[in-house]
Amino acid sequence: MATKTTVTKAKAAQPAEKKAAQIIEKNSKKQAGNLDGTADDKDLTVEERLSALYQLQKIVSQIDEIKTLRGDLPLEVQDLEDEVVGLNTRLTKFTHEIKEINATIGQKKHEIEESRVKIEKYKTQQENVRNNREYDNLSKEIEYQSLEIELSEKRIREFTAEKERRDVELNSANELLKERKLDLKVKKNELDEIVTETKHEEEQLRNKVKELETKIEPRLLSAFKRIRKNARNGLAIVTVQRDACGGCFNKIPAQSQLDICQHKKIIVCEYCGRILIDQELANENESENE
Ligand SMILES: [Zn+2]
Repeated sequence: MATKTTVTKAKAAQPAEKKAAQIIEKNSKKQAGNLDGTADDKDLTVEERLSALYQLQKIVSQIDEIKTLRGDLPLEVQDLEDEVVGLNTRLTKFTHEIKEINATIGQKKHEIEESRVKIEKYKTQQENVRNNREYDNLSKEIEYQSLEIELSEKRIREFTAEKERRDVELNSANELLKERKLDLKVKKNELDEIVTETKHEEEQLRNKVKELETKIEPRLLSAFKRIRKNARNGLAIVTVQRDACGGCFNKIPAQSQLDICQHKKIIVCEYCGRILIDQELANENESENE
């Protein structure tokens, strides 16, 4: 029974048992402290964290370099793809419009034919009229149909001019599309080549990133990512170089430099917010990577 006694019950127990309970309590507190990182004796852990962050920085910088190698190509390819889609839409629209114009011209031609047939018919009728009034009425009809023909011819001329304009637009859009498709092919090949060359390397680097990220506590990792995003060169952790921040080159106060070298807490540059690491610790991690 005594071995299963809880801490609360132990308070009322024998002095020896009481002491044992206190030790257990202390140990469990210490363990908890180690887990959430609030214990005082964390020298090594801060150093390890800095090392992990520095290694992570090295790898993400290598991935950045690969991306730099690709340059604007991904964006250029995207732009060209968008343009090709746009040109295809324009071509479809022009083709449809030209088809409609052709249909209208065809209809007008048909109407002209009908008017001509009517005129022929009226002229024949005029030869057999019984009075002047009938003859005049037929003359008016012929005149009306002639005007209709003229109007249709005018419309055909207008539509033909419109069609010619559309044809020119269609042709230039076609030419442009051919050019852009060729550009796209060249750029895409170029990009594919670079991607293929660096794909394996990038994958390996990304795996290393994942592995390292699991070792870094989430809050520190998200701080690292936030700093990195805001830093122009993508560096979230930099070395102290000649008493200055290796990121923004502002001078670091002597006390901060001392703190940085002691690895007891994580120090950030007061100007740019980057995490600072001393050259010595950085060097250790350089050789570890090689
Ligand atoms: Zn700085």
